[in-house]
Amino acid sequence: MKKGGYIVSACLVGRRCRYDGEDKSHSGVVRFLRRRKYLALCPEMLAGWKSPRPAVELRGGGAAQVSEGVARIKDARGRDRTETLIRGVHRALRRAVAFEAREAILKEKSPSCGVERVYRDGRLGRGEGLFTYWLRKNGISVRSEEELSAKRAAKP
Ligand code: SF4
Repeated sequence: MKKGGYIVSACLVGRRCRYDGEDKSHSGVVRFLRRRKYLALCPEMLAGWKSPRPAVELRGGGAAQVSEGVARIKDARGRDRTETLIRGVHRALRRAVAFEAREAILKEKSPSCGVERVYRDGRLGRGEGLFTYWLRKNGISVRSEEELSAKRAAKP
């Protein structure tokens, strides 16, 4: 049986850690976690970035290609942020593993936390974020706040 609790994108539970200096507090996620053990993480803040900051996106490939060194993470000013984000993601991953996370609920569309869709080469398309990729690679299942809401809404 799986131990541990849930990992959640910190912005979904009210932390103002987004690129725009805001949070993305999600009432469904907050409700779901109310009586559950969870750990809120923001891989971009763990990379040492500030909030607000220039937004980043995947360039030239998806999260797997970034991890293999054949695609990059760049910010809106064109600066290469690949190495620092990889460091932040691995810091977050180590915390998730130490927490013995059973599942993660992450923010859709983020280049770090996206689950089904991410911004890549200037467009929103199918793909996962870098943190999601590494959690899955370590056997931790991930769903988005949208998926959580849809499932709960569908319950009779
Ligand atoms: S990296 Fe993840 S937790 Fe941090 S602001 Fe972006 S979506 Fe939220």
